[in-house]
Amino acid sequence: MAELKANGAAQATATTARPQTAPAGASPPYLWLTGQLTPWAEATVHITMVGWPAIGAVFEGIRAYWNAEQGQLYVFRLPEHLSRFAQSMKLMRMLPSLTPEQISAGLVELLRANAVREDAYLQPLAFTGGQVWGSRAAADQVPEVLITSRPSPSGLLSGRTSTAGISSWTRISDNVMPPRIKALPNYANSRLASHEAQRNGYDQPIFLNTAGKVAEGPGSCLFMIRDGIVITPPTTASILESITRASVIQLYRDMGVEVVERDMDRTELYVADEVFFCGTAMEVHAVTKVDGYDIGDGKTSGPLLNALERTFNDVVRGADSRYRGWVTAVH
Ligand SMILES: *Cc1c(COP(=O)(O)O)cnc(C)c1O
Repeated sequence: MAELKANGAAQATATTARPQTAPAGASPPYLWLTGQLTPWAEATVHITMVGWPAIGAVFEGIRAYWNAEQGQLYVFRLPEHLSRFAQSMKLMRMLPSLTPEQISAGLVELLRANAVREDAYLQPLAFTGGQVWGSRAAADQVPEVLITSRPSPSGLLSGRTSTAGISSWTRISDNVMPPRIKALPNYANSRLASHEAQRNGYDQPIFLNTAGKVAEGPGSCLFMIRDGIVITPPTTASILESITRASVIQLYRDMGVEVVERDMDRTELYVADEVFFCGTAMEVHAVTKVDGYDIGDGKTSGPLLNALERTFNDVVRGADSRYRGWVTAVH
């Protein structure tokens, strides 16, 4: 009993102790902070920075893919991600002191410093400090730009699939919280829907927008295929202007497959031949059921997604010379 108590006390101390530095161990040696490679544990801020600065923070999610044959690491569509990052900062009225090219160079420098030789996920994040709290949180200020990298094995060609349910939560809209901005606060909407989907037994939610049309997933865009035509909601349907979405559209067109950007009804999903999510985190990812309706055979991804996924895997790993311009070599 005494021993148990001692253990309990030790545990309580361990879980309530305030970390003086960021957790070490699984962390990479370095992150990049506004122009400087910085040892992971040294990149700390004052406790009052927790909270309000997040309501104005914007970020990017970028993948780097390891090509074992070439012994090379490729970053996928780096300039496109950094130009969207600049757009998000502009819309949030930040005044960045760094150009997209400087941030790009910092990201590559970070991957080299961390000696990354595996699939990785990179997250540039811009936030302004806590000079002004509350709803006016820091506008027209120079943001800090943080870049972190972490290992993130690709799920491409693994046969993974997800089920999805239409969310009872409506997607945020341009006059509420613009989904075009890749902003942290937008994820409050995504979080509500993701938790609801889980409780209802689905892997992922699908949002409808204020017009009742299909919008996107919590952190990815959505495609459906009907009668051989690839269909996705337009960029005005309350979605993020996804770089993976643009890449998928281009790859299908180059394969000679027709792609249409138009509004989509939820019942079209129920009778679609194929449905899939796309985004940097999800890559391309088959949906096998929507609201319990089977998509295709209800178990596996369909032929047009399979064809795309094989090409996409080669493209992101710098193995398809036609799309070499979409990747940046690191080493
Ligand atoms: C990041 C994100 C996507 C995907 O965009 P990519 O540029 O393809 O990574 C889609 N929807 C939302 C809400 C996102 O945050």
